[in-house]
Amino acid sequence: MPTRRRDNQTAPLWIEAGEDKSTPLISVAPAAPIDKIYTYTATLELLEQLRIGQRVSVPFGRKGTPSPAYVVAIEQGTWNSTLKPITEILDPAGNLSNHLLELGKWIARYYCCPLGRTLSAMIPQVVRKQSGFVTQRFISLAATADTIADHRLGAKQQTILQELMKEQAHLQAADLLKRAAASRATLKSLLKRGLIVETISKALPKDLECPYPRNEPDFQLNVSQKEALAHITDVLCSQEFRVILLYGRSGSGKTEVYVRAIRRVLAAGKQAIMLVPEIALTTQLMQRLAERFDHVAVIHSGLTGVQRSLAWERIRNRDIHVVIGTRSAVFAPCPDLGLIVVDEEQEPSYKNLRSPRFHVRDVAIKRAHLLNIPIILGSATPSLETWHNAHHHRAYTCVTLPSRVKSLPMPSVRLIDMRNEPSAALGATISRQLAEALRETLAKKQQAVILLNRRGFASWLFCPRCKMRIQCHRCNACMVLHLAQNRIRCHQCNLSEPIPIHCPDHSCRGKLVHGGGGTEKIEQQLHTCFPDARVLRADSDTMTHARKYRHLVNAFENRELDILIGTQMIAKGLDFPNVSLVGVIGAEPPAALSDFRANERLFQLVTQVAGRAGRADATGLVIVQSMNVDSPALRHAVHHDFDSFAAVELPRRQAMHFPPFTRLTRFILAGPREGDVMEQARCLADRLKQHIAETAQPDCVVLGPHPCVMERAKNMYRYELLLRAASASAMLSVLDSARHDGALRVNVKSFVLDVDPLSLS
Ligand code: ADP
Ligand code: ZN
Repeated sequence: MPTRRRDNQTAPLWIEAGEDKSTPLISVAPAAPIDKIYTYTATLELLEQLRIGQRVSVPFGRKGTPSPAYVVAIEQGTWNSTLKPITEILDPAGNLSNHLLELGKWIARYYCCPLGRTLSAMIPQVVRKQSGFVTQRFISLAATADTIADHRLGAKQQTILQELMKEQAHLQAADLLKRAAASRATLKSLLKRGLIVETISKALPKDLECPYPRNEPDFQLNVSQKEALAHITDVLCSQEFRVILLYGRSGSGKTEVYVRAIRRVLAAGKQAIMLVPEIALTTQLMQRLAERFDHVAVIHSGLTGVQRSLAWERIRNRDIHVVIGTRSAVFAPCPDLGLIVVDEEQEPSYKNLRSPRFHVRDVAIKRAHLLNIPIILGSATPSLETWHNAHHHRAYTCVTLPSRVKSLPMPSVRLIDMRNEPSAALGATISRQLAEALRETLAKKQQAVILLNRRGFASWLFCPRCKMRIQCHRCNACMVLHLAQNRIRCHQCNLSEPIPIHCPDHSCRGKLVHGGGGTEKIEQQLHTCFPDARVLRADSDTMTHARKYRHLVNAFENRELDILIGTQMIAKGLDFPNVSLVGVIGAEPPAALSDFRANERLFQLVTQVAGRAGRADATGLVIVQSMNVDSPALRHAVHHDFDSFAAVELPRRQAMHFPPFTRLTRFILAGPREGDVMEQARCLADRLKQHIAETAQPDCVVLGPHPCVMERAKNMYRYELLLRAASASAMLSVLDSARHDGALRVNVKSFVLDVDPLSLS
């Protein structure tokens, strides 16, 4: 029998020899990336303040190094002498409701991420620190009249004690000092003698104003909006988990339906979360939405820590009824959540790019499922996952808004076959038709937007003598010429160098040529062709700050600009009534199979920009230039026909065993020595195969390992492998089993495990 060691620290005092050894045990998840749960005890005093979700400090490892961890369970269990006590509570706030903890556990399991790391991603650090809260100090009496009589006290000290005795309760320190006309020093001396105690708590500051003035548009819902709303209301009344896909092209009035559905939820005394994608214009869109509600909070990446922390607390205490926000708002601590809305559910920015690599839409669906509430997914071009589910999954319903409000026609889309264009071989260029359309647009004093998803002036530099391309010496990527910066740049690692004139090979020294091209080249062509037009380029080289972007939007709205040229950052969310022409340059479907979603993205891009033209009274024209005009993505985008595109694309995905017909997990390993990386990848593949066999999941396969499309980046060699499963549950059982065995641990410099990857490039 082990000898029982007992002291105040390790064992609760109320256990007597021979009694039940039951004691509260606290499970914690380390904040460090360690995929395990550990058990601790706590002193009575600490136990009273402990909450699930809090960050605490625990002695860790053999040396008992103080380490941060998150409380994930407090349960009665059997005491034993190896248990150590929690040292202290690091942040008193950050407690999680049961269902958010459940959600955290699901994320940690599904996306293969340690629970501690997941919880730290769910609750912003500023919320844990209660930034912006007002500190309140309360004083209460700790001694009886008898003990007080034993002390020799000054007059001020006595007054303080008398005031406290009179109140029979605690008093705010400042209040008390005023009443007794005493100073903080007097209070301190009483504290030191143990006659009084001070408790410090944090509270919201008073008089928080709502910065969004109410602004109601004045119109009636049209027939299809009414039908959609009636359907949603039925689901809301049934109080059960359902996913409603609200499917309607841009301008069909989806936003209006969300707003009214949310109002129904508020009327029932519940809260709602509306998620919007993170795009350059997010803040403005959200403010416009916020003006439709009282008691609304807007959560986006531009908030200060204090704003975020205060919003979180007001949501928790039901002061806020509607939360509008980007990614992190999916974790808003609403105690009475009745509805979640995910706008533009297909947007790639909903995928978190750091571990845990969760998809906000899927987390939102899971949250709705745990709470048994409905969720609305809105889109003009749904992701094929959602589209497939909407037609095959019991929990899904598809509600359609068939036409644009005000019966505005969709702009006509014209495809230009660039194989017939003489200058096309030289790279990005404006076709004759696009130039002609631009001329007409400028003559009519209307505006144009041109889109090209590539930055820079030339995409490659080439030595014709030795047939060599100039590559980044750290990555296998071509250096891109940026004339405006007078540099060449690697778009992988951002390395920049002066522009070389001659081949770097000293035995060659051929004169370099360049080709391909991006936004800078088009900008230059526009200046040459239309010297009087006011042209502005918007890409991440010029739009280095959100302020610049807002400035650009204002200038364009005020018609201080004629042509806007940019990357896809300008494709989303813009709503300019005077734009009558949109040009898309280089709309190419993927050359390789590396990215199974490329067709879908191309379709979305063209449809999205087409939605930009002719939003108001000017009827729009969209010109799409491509070397591959026969691709189904383009053919159907021309007719704004998502249904037909999905009907072609889904069987293709099925034939190639890609999602939504399968599930994928992607593993990327990288390190400075290729042999080591390859070896580790091979071993990981073997271990995965072993677990597929052990879990008897015959429909799972391991593909690879093979070098990534970008084989080398930042001086590291990159290898990937894929786990493909017939269903989410099959994939989970293999991953669970491998993870439990430690089989997912690899010894490389960088390791990424991506469940449901958005792309494979
Ligand atoms: P979506 O979200 O589908 O792109 P919106 O809800 O933004 O569409 O609607 C597009 C435009 O039409 C907005 O300016 C909106 O105020 C307006 N609108 C929406 N519904 C109606 C309606 N029933 N009658 C008149 N205008 C409407
Ligand atoms: Zn590089």
